Amino acid sequence: MPADDVMIRFDKVVKRFGDNVVLRELDFQARPGEHVTLIGPSGSGKTTILRLLMGLERVNGGTIQVGDEYLSHMRRGDKLVPADERHLRKVRRRIGMVFQQFNLFPNMNVLRNLTEAPISVLGQPREQAEARAKELLDMVGLAEKLTANPAELSGGQQQRVAIARALAMQPDVLLLDEVTSALDPELAAGVLDVLRDIARSTDVTLLCVTHAMKFARDISDRVLMFDGGKIIEDAPPAEIFDSPREARTRDFLQSVI
Ligand code: ADP
Repeated sequence: MPADDVMIRFDKVVKRFGDNVVLRELDFQARPGEHVTLIGPSGSGKTTILRLLMGLERVNGGTIQVGDEYLSHMRRGDKLVPADERHLRKVRRRIGMVFQQFNLFPNMNVLRNLTEAPISVLGQPREQAEARAKELLDMVGLAEKLTANPAELSGGQQQRVAIARALAMQPDVLLLDEVTSALDPELAAGVLDVLRDIARSTDVTLLCVTHAMKFARDISDRVLMFDGGKIIEDAPPAEIFDSPREARTRDFLQSVI
């Protein structure tokens, strides 16, 4: 852990797609165990932040740190040079991500979905990986679905398996990208309940992009309001939702609630 106890640090991050400048010298930090939610209009750059953290996109300027390591760069002597694939993989291992579409391995049962990467990537013994997988499935309320195939589960159940699978890799940071937007409201509610439990009972750092404002209010320590690739408001949820400072935050909240 770095001396100043920061889990995620964006420092003047610039991201462009062609002429489209999506992030403009973005700075923000999250402390270990903090629950941070990103809100804002579509196209404001929220998903790009998660994709940068996953190493699915590269920055055009600035740096990203995860714990005490740079994601975009690596140290060579006292210089910073662009990260190579091996370095990226190492840092990325500290980060789990759950997507809108659950992306389970369709040809593996639930247990194997959870044990595959811990065994092959982390080198865990099978018994240890299976014991942990069972604990996690219990935590997401799916202990009885161990041998089911993904296709036999509802969307909400698949998403809960996806959350358990991400946690099986023991990430320091869990990224949640609109994890309920592909689900009917009652299935979404079950997924949000599971995430509330996880937020309460683990020390994982959470970075969520969501349009579920009640969930954002419940789960977050901080809410960042994005507009045009910049953070225009950064405050505890009660302040953002009950007395936003910025007119653009008020307008946005009116449009989604
Ligand atoms: P949000 O998550 O806030 O809706 P995104 O991060 O998905 O916003 O997108 C921000 C901007 O970046 C949008 O203008 C989008 O069109 C653009 N963008 C995102 N990904 C790509 C890509 N792979 N290629 C080109 N443009 C992209």
